[in-house]
Amino acid sequence: MIDLRSDTVTRPTPAMREAMSRAAVGDDVWGDDPTVAAFEAAVARRAGKAAGLFFPSGTQSNLAALLTHCQRGDEFIAGQHSHIYRDEGGGAAALGGIQAQPLEHALDGTLPVDKVQAAIKGEDIHHARTRLLALENTFRGKVLPEGYAERATAVARAHGLATHLDGARLFNAAVASGRPLAVLCQGFDSVSLCFSKGLGAPVGSVLLGDEAFIARARRWRKTLGGGMRQVGILAAGCDHALEHHVERLAEDHDHARQLAEGLADIAGIEVQACETNMVFLGVPEADCAALQECLAARGIQAAVGVTTRLVLHLDVTDDDVPRIVAALRDYFDRSGV
Ligand SMILES: *Cc1c(COP(=O)(O)O)cnc(C)c1O
Repeated sequence: MIDLRSDTVTRPTPAMREAMSRAAVGDDVWGDDPTVAAFEAAVARRAGKAAGLFFPSGTQSNLAALLTHCQRGDEFIAGQHSHIYRDEGGGAAALGGIQAQPLEHALDGTLPVDKVQAAIKGEDIHHARTRLLALENTFRGKVLPEGYAERATAVARAHGLATHLDGARLFNAAVASGRPLAVLCQGFDSVSLCFSKGLGAPVGSVLLGDEAFIARARRWRKTLGGGMRQVGILAAGCDHALEHHVERLAEDHDHARQLAEGLADIAGIEVQACETNMVFLGVPEADCAALQECLAARGIQAAVGVTTRLVLHLDVTDDDVPRIVAALRDYFDRSGV
């Protein structure tokens, strides 16, 4: 089965399982797990931040960041379609009493800096206190344009806001743009990175920030039930990914480009490539169910909708790409669209 629904579907490789099985462990709630401590430090070093904290999911890492930056009655600015606003179960509101101020994205995925500035509320008892700007990189597979994060975080800082980056796929952004991870993290008070997406680990995210921020986030992690015990076993999988699966993200990006090129001239679907590991297809509504079935019959799992996201990852091989192209071409040739 070729699974293109997400890059979360990757399974740990034999070498990763081997590394996990060898991990030295201790009770991480007591700060005793050497593998977790070394991994957190390695990620922090690479990202140019002072400290890191290991989480079971990106959702919990983002939520702990929100809870650490904001008090009840505060608000954070985020994209209308950002994961932290739209895809995390309303955790900020449900668990933190924090409200979102969502903003529409520009075509390139950014939140226009003038709109960010206009959304920041002045000191007035009618308003929630605007405390935080949260950005996402990559957003829908797109790398934030060079210079944008610097401008946006500068405006936030000038108004006394903290800044958070949801970098679930920031390694993809680094590899695609050739800019070091630490450069992409610059200007943000906190950054969340995922190891369970294209990097191929079964579990794990890291929240980064300065020592004081991470100390406070550690309290929230415990409160949220994210204090884990002999969790070096999981951190070892993430560490293996950090050592062996970062540069290879370029293969996923190549596969995405090959896929987009292979589909570009099919009449009836609109193909949008991006510079990382996703291809977006505009599919006529009438074709969605039949296309999904046709792909499944050829061993390809995809969540087909009017906007279909195909995600390339570690478990999609060089040989799979032409098979995916052929299956899609076949469907549209036969349906005579
Ligand atoms: C996957 C993802 C997360 C975190 O997701 P978890 O499934 O909770 O690890 C956060 N932000 C973005 C943009 C993501 O894609």
